[in-house]
Amino acid sequence: MQQPRSEPFIKPRIFSPGPTPVLDGAKFAAFDSEVYHRSDDFYELHLKCARQLQSIFGAEKLPVILTCSGTGGLEAAMVNLTDPGDEVIVVNGGKFGERWEKLADHYQCKAHVLKIEPGTAATADLLAPVLEQAHSPKAFFVQANETSTGVRHPVRDLANAVKAKFPDCLIVIDAISYLIAHPLDMATEGYDCVISASQKGFGLNPGLAFVAMSQRASAVQSTRPKFYFDWAREVAGQSKGRSAWTPAIGLIQGLSFVLDRIESVGLEAVIENHQRLANAVRAALPAMGLKLFPRSHPSNALTAIKVPDGVDGLQLQQRLQEGYGVTIPGGQDELKGRIIRLSNLGFMNRFDLLHGLAAVEFSLNDLGYSGSSGAVLGRGVQAFMQALSGTSGS
Ligand SMILES: *Cc1c(COP(=O)(O)O)cnc(C)c1O
Repeated sequence: MQQPRSEPFIKPRIFSPGPTPVLDGAKFAAFDSEVYHRSDDFYELHLKCARQLQSIFGAEKLPVILTCSGTGGLEAAMVNLTDPGDEVIVVNGGKFGERWEKLADHYQCKAHVLKIEPGTAATADLLAPVLEQAHSPKAFFVQANETSTGVRHPVRDLANAVKAKFPDCLIVIDAISYLIAHPLDMATEGYDCVISASQKGFGLNPGLAFVAMSQRASAVQSTRPKFYFDWAREVAGQSKGRSAWTPAIGLIQGLSFVLDRIESVGLEAVIENHQRLANAVRAALPAMGLKLFPRSHPSNALTAIKVPDGVDGLQLQQRLQEGYGVTIPGGQDELKGRIIRLSNLGFMNRFDLLHGLAAVEFSLNDLGYSGSSGAVLGRGVQAFMQALSGTSGS
C-alpha cells in the first residue's frame, strides 16, 4: 500500500488470506528472466513442481499447473467435468460458495444448492434434504475453507454423504485457502478434483492455479467447447513438463523454491504451524472482549472476528490501515463492516501475528473501545503469547 509521505515509519503489512507474504527466496527466484519455457531445464523444473504438488495433494495423478487466478482453476474443473444440463450439487456458505453456484449457472448446469447462513458450516444433516432433490448429479462442489466467513466445511463427511447416495457423483473441492493449512489427502479421502492457488498457503504472488484430478475424473471428457482450459491437452503436455501456453515462468520458479522449502520442513510441520497460530489467535479473542464469527468449524487459515458493538467495522479497517499500515480484510456484502478476517495463512510466524494483533488493539483503543475488562491494550497479545508459551520455532 502506498503510504503518505508524512508517515515514513509505517511498514505496510497485509494480513489477508491471499495474497499472503512471499518468501524472499521465492521473490528472488522469480527475478531470473533468462529462462525459456520451451527448454529441457524448464520442463524438468515444471515436472518436479508437479510431482511435489502431487504429494502435497495426495493425488493419484499429476496435478496440472495453470497460469490464472484460483477462479480459473474452479472454471477449469467446471468446464471439463460437466456438460450443459447436468445436475450438480453446490454448497453455498458465503462469497466463494456463491462462486460455485454462479459458475454452475453460467455453464448451464442444474444446481441443487445447499445455502447456509454465513458463519455456519455445512453438515451431512443439512445436506440430506438437498441430496433428496437430486436424481443423478454429475458433481458435488464445495469449499474446504469458505474464506469469506472463516469457516471450514467438514468436506470429508460431506463427500461421504454424497457418495453414499450417489457413488458416481464427482467430488470437487475448492481447497484454495485450505491446502497446507489443514491436512488433506485426495486419494484417501476420496475426492475427484481438488483446486488450490499460488497466492494462498503457498505464499507466492497470485497467478497460478493447481488442479488435481482423480483417475475417474480424468477419464471424464465433457462435450463442451474449450480452449485455454482443455484438460486433456494440458495433461498430455504437462506429463512432460510442457504447458500448452506460456506459463508464468517466474511464479513457477518461485513455486519450486517454496515446494523445496515445504519438503525440507515437512508438510506436517507446515500444517501444524497453521493450527498452532490459528488456535493462539482464537485464544486471544476473549481477552480482548471479541468473539469468533464462525459458530463452529473455524478455519486454521484465518480468524474471522466479529466487530464488537459500538465499533464501526469500516472505521476499524480504516484506522488499521491509515494509523498502522495494517491491512486486514473485512466482510463482503451482508458481512461488510461486521467482521474482520485476520489471516495466518502461508509462511507466517508468531511475531507476524503479534504485529497484527497489536495493531487491532491499538486501533480498537483509538476508536474508544475498551473491551470487557475496561482495557484492550496488551490483553489479546498477552493471551496469544500465553497460548504459545512452551512452543518455539515459528
Ligand atoms: C482466494 C480464493 C479463491 C480464488 O480467488 P482468485 O481471486 O480467483 O484467486 C477461490 N476460493 C477460495 C475459497 C478462496 O479463498
